[in-house]
Amino acid sequence: MTDSNENIAGKVVVITGASSGLGEATARRLVAEGARVFLGARREENLRALADDLGDNAAYQVVDVTSRDQVQQFVDAAAEKFGRVDVVVNNAGLMPLSPLDALKVDEWETMIDVNIKGVLYGIAAALPRMQEQGDGHIITLSSVAGHTVLPNSAVYSGTKYAVWAITEGLRQEVGGEIRATIISPGAVDTELPQRISHDEAREGADALYSVAIDADAVARAISYAIAQPRDVDINEIVLRPTAQAV
Ligand code: NDP
Repeated sequence: MTDSNENIAGKVVVITGASSGLGEATARRLVAEGARVFLGARREENLRALADDLGDNAAYQVVDVTSRDQVQQFVDAAAEKFGRVDVVVNNAGLMPLSPLDALKVDEWETMIDVNIKGVLYGIAAALPRMQEQGDGHIITLSSVAGHTVLPNSAVYSGTKYAVWAITEGLRQEVGGEIRATIISPGAVDTELPQRISHDEAREGADALYSVAIDADAVARAISYAIAQPRDVDINEIVLRPTAQAV
């Protein structure tokens, strides 16, 4: 697919939400560029198939990012398997859009648990190790919904604003030696909108996603951030379909 990059080759990249979509596309691209990837999500079959496809430079462990213990074990297992952890891509996330007055409180809680707490657990699991190494890179998936709010996206946007703030705070606090990057995509063609349970919100998302771009567009952005020399931290990349207005 692509050539090895000197700043990516050999790096150990831990990716949550690697069983589909952006996580899978990122794993495929980074392995093609010479990285070793450790894949996590809940759907073991998908992880196994992807790891088999990618060969010796990929391994996986089932992880539910709503469990702090599981996320710690997952990051520790990556270090055990490959000897170190250079990059964590906190990518796992959900987008069950709905208007607030539909009171889908269970979905609000799941979004907070996966999109916010899952990211925090990923940071907690990797940061001490990276500080000990004196090197590391934490990448999180915010969204254009982390920059603007639309009807039906109040809670999802809230989680993505939080991810933005947490990652920017992380960069300011540990930026001396550890890089932090926010990736904020618009509509990208993945399974993400498929789990919207509110009919009107689903129709709105279908319209927005009619112009969705390929998941490799985000994988290229993540690769670009990792590929920079150590003294360059790409703070954020915002990318959308050319045809997407907001
Ligand atoms: P997908 O639905 O294809 O992927 C989501 C991933 O998250 C899956 O691998 C899923 O795996 C994983 N996941 C969900 N819940 C958990 C959990 N509790 N524990 C572990 N893993 C979990 O969507 P995308 O690839 O599009 O989404 C990836 C990220 O990108 C999300 O954070 C999303 O908000 C963000 N994003 C996506 C955009 C888009 O348009 N596609 C735009 C902007 C941001 P499993 O079900 O196997 O656990």
